Amino acid sequence: MISIIAQENAKEFLRRARENERVAHAYLFHGPNGSGKEALALLTAQSFFCEARHPKPAPQPATLSLFDEPAPQPAAPQQEGGDLACGVCSACRRVSEMTHPDVRVIFPRAASASEDERTEVLRSLAANPYQRSRPWENPNILIDDIRALKRDLSMTSYEGHGIVALILEAERMKAEAANALLKILEEPPPQTLIMLTANSLAGMLPTIVSRCQPVRLLVLTREQIVAALQQKHGVPPEHAQFIAKLANGSFRRALDLLDEDVDTRRQQAVDFLRMAFRFNKPVEQMDFLNALAQDHDRRELRQLLEFCLLLVRDGYVFKSTSASQKQDASIINTDQERMLSDLVNNLPNFDFPAVINELEFAMECLDRYVQPWLVLVVLLHRIYQLSGSRR
Ligand SMILES: [Zn+2]
Repeated sequence: MISIIAQENAKEFLRRARENERVAHAYLFHGPNGSGKEALALLTAQSFFCEARHPKPAPQPATLSLFDEPAPQPAAPQQEGGDLACGVCSACRRVSEMTHPDVRVIFPRAASASEDERTEVLRSLAANPYQRSRPWENPNILIDDIRALKRDLSMTSYEGHGIVALILEAERMKAEAANALLKILEEPPPQTLIMLTANSLAGMLPTIVSRCQPVRLLVLTREQIVAALQQKHGVPPEHAQFIAKLANGSFRRALDLLDEDVDTRRQQAVDFLRMAFRFNKPVEQMDFLNALAQDHDRRELRQLLEFCLLLVRDGYVFKSTSASQKQDASIINTDQERMLSDLVNNLPNFDFPAVINELEFAMECLDRYVQPWLVLVVLLHRIYQLSGSRR
């Protein structure tokens, strides 16, 4: 079953489209990372194929009796959003398990991706659409995959109810692939539903955006993430609160954090920030950065910087609130108060907003596949410059 966290407006929009038989040929689900775009697209695919919509003919009882009470039908359990798709019929199940023959899923990948790697992505999507695996660095939607989709859409569906195509992270598409997709969207074959997901519309071809019905997903609130962690993953309340604060609106991030050693990562972030002030020990500093870049992949380094960002934000909040307000302030690392007060008291000219910008820029560089070592060296130097301390 597909479980969607919140996003009531988006679900209501899809529900109404279905009730009024005004389902579009193409949808574009857009919204921040970890808001549930894939989950909602899969629910919409279920809704397209659900047997409640294409009922199978009921088997005729062998003998009819005027006097027998009709046997009560057991009520099937329904999934959340059950009015869009039941979630339990064979079609719904095969959609969520990624085994439906009339569902095509296209996602960014490396041109050299192996069959096993591609299967693993689908498997992870079936296991939890909020936590799809991403095995490649700087992947793209490939023109070959769009061409294959075009071929598939021109054929008749296996089960006679049409074909659904999901194109994930559609913003990761170069001009050639985007133009090929545009051709499909301009003349969608009958009985097809094409769904795109994108974190933002900024990088997308406007002509593609204009041919899709946009469905906007909102960033999840802390309360929604806490509730989902407790109810769906059995996380104890206090830990759920802490994870939700760190997840910053992304349920994907929250699930990643559940698998991580949060304390170790945070200690690394503290060490990293401390290292910024050791410019009088360049050898020690370079050894530290070399080891960091060698022993961690890009995703881990990004997490490290996210923890740095949270600590610096906390420092900023700590500095801007009076002692009486500190209890209520939105400090995340409440157990690190000593380190925060050290930071604020020892470096009165520390430029918090500028350091926050630098950290965000460094994370973007990592996302854009700039060499990690370079990102770390430049960042450390910038933090030092912005700390207001004298060499
Ligand atoms: Zn169903």
